[in-house]
Amino acid sequence: MAYLEKILMYEGGEGVETRSYRTMLEDAYSRLPPKPKVSTRFELPKPIVQIIGTRTFLQNFREICQYMNREQSHTFKFLLNELGTAGHISDDMAVFQGKFSEEQIERLLKHYVDEFVICPVCRRPDTRIQKQGRFNFLVCEACGARSSLRNV
Ligand SMILES: [Zn+2]
Repeated sequence: MAYLEKILMYEGGEGVETRSYRTMLEDAYSRLPPKPKVSTRFELPKPIVQIIGTRTFLQNFREICQYMNREQSHTFKFLLNELGTAGHISDDMAVFQGKFSEEQIERLLKHYVDEFVICPVCRRPDTRIQKQGRFNFLVCEACGARSSLRNV
């Protein structure tokens, strides 16, 4: 699989002759096992959202942060900014002032993953946030890329 991905990276490259690329691709495909292995792609746990009174409870907030391998405080700050509200973290839950739908929170979490979890170079989620002074970087464990991040 790693072999195929390396070859696919040439697709956007310059000066790669099409025929040799095709040959390489066919060669790569011929090396693949007959049945594709079980997908290991990044699938965020579905947010469990409950509105009680005028507050919204994201009940599996801790689980979601653990899955993303991000500090709860970082994700929480992002959500508060995007929702334009206040709130607090309580045990496994994030609590927001105001009523927000599951779809709304799920959409924001996807934005968060795109911006703060997925490596922009190789599109894998095996990353960590590295702080350097006032700046944050997304460091990819898979391809080694280091990308600057805005502060939340
Ligand atoms: Zn990467």
